[in-house]
Amino acid sequence: MEIIFATGNRHKVTEAQKALGNSFTLIMPKELGLTEDIPENGDTLQANAIEKAEYLWKRFGKSCFADDTGLEVDALDGAPGVYTARYAGPDKGSDANMEKLLAELEKAAKEGKCSRKARFRTVVALIIEGELQIFNGVLEGEIALQRSGSQGFGYDPVFIPCGYGKTLAEISLDEKNAISHRGKAVRALAEYLKCSQKAR
Ligand code: IMP
Repeated sequence: MEIIFATGNRHKVTEAQKALGNSFTLIMPKELGLTEDIPENGDTLQANAIEKAEYLWKRFGKSCFADDTGLEVDALDGAPGVYTARYAGPDKGSDANMEKLLAELEKAAKEGKCSRKARFRTVVALIIEGELQIFNGVLEGEIALQRSGSQGFGYDPVFIPCGYGKTLAEISLDEKNAISHRGKAVRALAEYLKCSQKAR
C-alpha cells in the first residue's frame, strides 16, 4: 500500500519506512510533482500536523500522514513549542535557536525559575481512506548548560534525555531512534497501519 509522507526530508522517510516495513511504500510529495511548501499555520503541533495531512488528502485523495515536532521547556512556560523551528527568527538556523534557548534559560534562572526540565513532542496526523487518526510521541529530558556533541540535528546538542547523562548529539542515531519522540510516534503509526491492514 502506498502512503504519502508530508516531508521533504529523505532521512525522515528512511526512518519511517524502517518502522513500517515493506507492506507500505512511502512517497514524498515532490515525487508526485508537488513543488510548493505545504501550509503550516496552526498554533499547536496537532493543528499543524492535521493541516499538512488534510492538504495532501485534498490534493491527491491518497492515504497520507504528516508530523510536527516541538520542544517544550518548563521554565519558559512551554516555549518554544510550536515555534521550535523558528525560535530565533524565521531565517535563523539551529545555532541561533540553541543560543537563544540557553540565553532565555539563563534569564529565567535569574528570575528564580531554575528548572531545566524539557520534552520533545511529536504529533503525527494520518488520513487513511479519508479518516483522521492522531499519534503522539514524547521524550522527556532536560536542557544542558552548554552544547555538547556533534551528531544529529536541531537542538540535539543541548537536549539530555532522562537517565542518559549526555546529549542526543552524543549518542548514535539508532540509539536516538529507539527512544526519540518521533521514533515513538512513528512506531505507534506503524502499529496502527499494520493492524488496520490485517483487519481489511
Ligand atoms: P519538525 O516538525 O520535524 O520540522 O521539527 C521542528 C523543529 O524541531 C526542527 O526544526 C528542529 O529544530 C526541532 N527538532 C525536531 N526534532 C528534533 C530532534 O530529534 N532533535 C533536535 N531537534 C529537533
